[in-house]
Amino acid sequence: MSARQPLIAGNWKMNGSTSFVGEFCAALGVQNLAQGVTTLLLPPVAYLQQVVSAVADLGVECGAQNAHSEAAGAYTGEIAPEMVRDLGGRWVLVGHSERRQYFAESDELLADKFAAALRADLTPIFCVGETLTQRNAGQAEEVVRQQILGVAERVGSDAFLQGVVAYEPVWAIGTGETATPAQAQAMHGLIRAEIAAMDPTAASAMRLLYGGSMNAGNAADLLAEPDIDGGLVGGASLKAAEFLQIVGLAAGQET
Ligand code: PEP
Repeated sequence: MSARQPLIAGNWKMNGSTSFVGEFCAALGVQNLAQGVTTLLLPPVAYLQQVVSAVADLGVECGAQNAHSEAAGAYTGEIAPEMVRDLGGRWVLVGHSERRQYFAESDELLADKFAAALRADLTPIFCVGETLTQRNAGQAEEVVRQQILGVAERVGSDAFLQGVVAYEPVWAIGTGETATPAQAQAMHGLIRAEIAAMDPTAASAMRLLYGGSMNAGNAADLLAEPDIDGGLVGGASLKAAEFLQIVGLAAGQET
């Protein structure tokens, strides 16, 4: 059993409304939240402050799905990591595959965003993962390795001491297709070994999340793997009851 506290993060993507936030947060309730798990909500930044206020007494953490690599400036439409912190966020996703795919975010830019998050005292959750084409070509491990090295080379080998890595095979995100526990564990083991080669302390302390169609039906088997310390949950995090179930499973509770 690992000493790392499980982390379950709900990525709402571009979903929600003020009334959705009210209903979702009301359903969480402190009596419903399993203890011994870091529970994190990543709403659209437009609702971040509302979520922060609504969960203030529940011990639920909050963060953003993206933030810029600069602290301020002429970047119309962007959000600085310092602003996320100012709104009460303490976490930020960096390099979600939808950002890489639809906004052409490069490994270099993502390394800068990772560093900017640390400067703003946010915990970055760095997302890595291969496409189906890359997996079928036998390139999955090398793709993920290069994504990890991209941060280490620009930010420093101890970068991951203060961050979290989420392995999210692109072919499993929003598709209903999940990596098998064995596939996910194999990649998580590789990621931890890769980081251990640079910084053994960071590697043993840091949390590695799995993301890709995690739900209440498959979470227990994934979370039982030794190098899977939690989940980055998209679709299933929009249903309060299912999200609570996943948090309960991370705590080792039957639901
Ligand atoms: C995600 O958004 O990071 C994700 C894993 O989405 P889903 O759970 O819907 O596949």
